[in-house]
Amino acid sequence: MQNNLKQKFIDDTPETDMPKLKQQRIDITNNSNSDNLSGMTWDSVNHSCAYDALFTVIYHIWCKNIHYWSQNFNQYGEHSQILVQGLNQVVRGQITLNNARDNVRQALHIECPAKFPYGTIGTDISDLLTYMLKNQNTLGTATEICSSCNYERELEIKPNSLIFITSSQFKSLNNTFLNWQESQGHCDSCEGVTNIRRKFNQNPGLVAFSIQVGGITINKAIKVTKISGPAITLPLKGIIYLSNHHFSIHIITSEKNVWFHDGIATGSTCILEGPLTNFSDKTLRKHNSGIAVAAIYAKN
Ligand SMILES: [Zn+2]
Repeated sequence: MQNNLKQKFIDDTPETDMPKLKQQRIDITNNSNSDNLSGMTWDSVNHSCAYDALFTVIYHIWCKNIHYWSQNFNQYGEHSQILVQGLNQVVRGQITLNNARDNVRQALHIECPAKFPYGTIGTDISDLLTYMLKNQNTLGTATEICSSCNYERELEIKPNSLIFITSSQFKSLNNTFLNWQESQGHCDSCEGVTNIRRKFNQNPGLVAFSIQVGGITINKAIKVTKISGPAITLPLKGIIYLSNHHFSIHIITSEKNVWFHDGIATGSTCILEGPLTNFSDKTLRKHNSGIAVAAIYAKN
């Protein structure tokens, strides 16, 4: 029984079908100190806010190290590959950010029109996260071992680049994630104490969370434990907020500045809200009436 509960703390979604270019970065996005960080503009005919939100976050992660991230995002499957191809065309001035978004959207719509509709019907951000950021492969090991009788089993939900948060018991995202990676349970065979361990093979580069419960604070970094070697820390890069069926985002740059983007309100630009130090884990959970429904952590 206990084991079942543990699984539910962070559960996978049900089956799914499922040169470091530093100068270029500055030229393209004016990341460093401009008030013109770019974003995708809302499509009022085919409501696009879920795509605007996630893809704008991904864009700002990607353009920090185009070579590394183009490879990293390739792991997540066809739709991320289409996005990366599009972003590379954006960099070359061949298409706009909105074109890049629409290319992915078309492919998603063809694959699953019910989840990714056109028109004014909304898109579930957890579906979009699943199609865009869930790694096709397991990124590590997940076992439960009894310290008394040595009963051992493999856990179904293994380390992945996308994690679903379905309980607020541990309050913060990092605590919830840490507990998922390392906790204790009760042995089905002997009632002894078991050790639950989920470890990543290597630095995943990016870990995204689909937050499906309220009351979770958003840490500025998360700790990822590995099979061997020291744990690593991934900094917060983006938060997606939901308010009245509309998504908006915070982008956190490598310079630790927080920017706000909303494809309706801010359009193709973002608004600088100030240094990350002005925010607490608790205040990051909300933006105006929006509540955090996703958070994305990625290496600098
Ligand atoms: Zn046992």
